[in-house]
Amino acid sequence: MMRITAVRERTVQLAAATRNASIGFGAMTASALCIETDGMRDGRPLVGLAFDSIGRYGHGGLLRERFIPRLLAADPSRYDDGNGGIDPHRAWDVVMTDEKAGGHGERCGAVGLIDAALWDLVAKHRDEPLWRTLARDDGVSASARIALYASGGHYRDADDVPALCDDVRRAIGKGHHRFKIKIGGAPLMDDMARIDAVLDILGPGMTLAVDGNGMFSRDRTMEYLDALKGRPLAWIEEPVHPLDFDLHREIAALSPLPLATGENLFSRDDARNLLRHGGLRADRDRLQFDISLSYGIVEYRRILDEMRAQGWDRARCAPHAGHLFAAHGVAGLGLGLAEVAMDDRSLFGRITAGLPLHDGVATLPDAPGTGFEACPAYADIFGELLN
Ligand SMILES: [Mg+2]
Repeated sequence: MMRITAVRERTVQLAAATRNASIGFGAMTASALCIETDGMRDGRPLVGLAFDSIGRYGHGGLLRERFIPRLLAADPSRYDDGNGGIDPHRAWDVVMTDEKAGGHGERCGAVGLIDAALWDLVAKHRDEPLWRTLARDDGVSASARIALYASGGHYRDADDVPALCDDVRRAIGKGHHRFKIKIGGAPLMDDMARIDAVLDILGPGMTLAVDGNGMFSRDRTMEYLDALKGRPLAWIEEPVHPLDFDLHREIAALSPLPLATGENLFSRDDARNLLRHGGLRADRDRLQFDISLSYGIVEYRRILDEMRAQGWDRARCAPHAGHLFAAHGVAGLGLGLAEVAMDDRSLFGRITAGLPLHDGVATLPDAPGTGFEACPAYADIFGELLN
């Protein structure tokens, strides 16, 4: 029976001089996590690694006070998979002991980190890439090749439009075909200039989406939808507050433009309410629940079950968060589209910068696990966690 012997976490500074319509990233942080076991691999203890999604800050307090102590205190029989390994579903129940239903707060991001590290560990234990582990467990036909979109276009204080165009040109040069930029952090006319500048750069078959980060009022949303009517956009993301389902319903009834939302809903309960009450259209809209921030793969599979029950194909999923863990989720769970950071010099961008990419399709590496060890940002993320 494999025993978890240590769990270490650290907070990583993600400070960047960028902003969207909702927040600035000057003080942004994220957590990195390492779960060590008494299993051995290549003469060293078998470890699982996880790195946070972006946008909700690190989860160190919750990890240290509640979730890591529960995992370390549990007898290994409580998370044993019956085959000499660890079952992340059973471990999930251990860390969620004595947690009440509903009111998810930030705990879903902390639990998501533990879940991600355990899946990394399970895939390494089976000596296969994580997407293959997930595909086998889920019974879906999957492949290492995934459709990607490059996400960026945050606002800068100086040379905003030229810098945005440089980012997009560089991403095209790398093999990207799909792009998403921010809206709502500037007056409408300035946003239209940014959108048109990018549309001018795109070649045949390339697409652009826009992201309002949930900050528009009803009236401002209508102004934007009117102005965007003539533009061939892939989707408009979070134009309004992520929890205002009535307003989503109203917008979906008024405009044929595809909507994307869900990155700020963190559970099966929240996904169910969005699908029940948000008026979203299963033939065009995209669901962006963030796997890592939504309690991880264990809960994400419950979200997929809920989608199926409400008539949604999992190909409508484009999980928020551009890094390797989500990319494996897209590949292994048969989802539609993965997000990566357009700026491949940022920490998040460097995580996925090494993926082979051609015509907007990336190929995940064959390395066992999530593949953090081979990514260019490995040492910066995990630092002293790697003894
Ligand atoms: Mg977004």
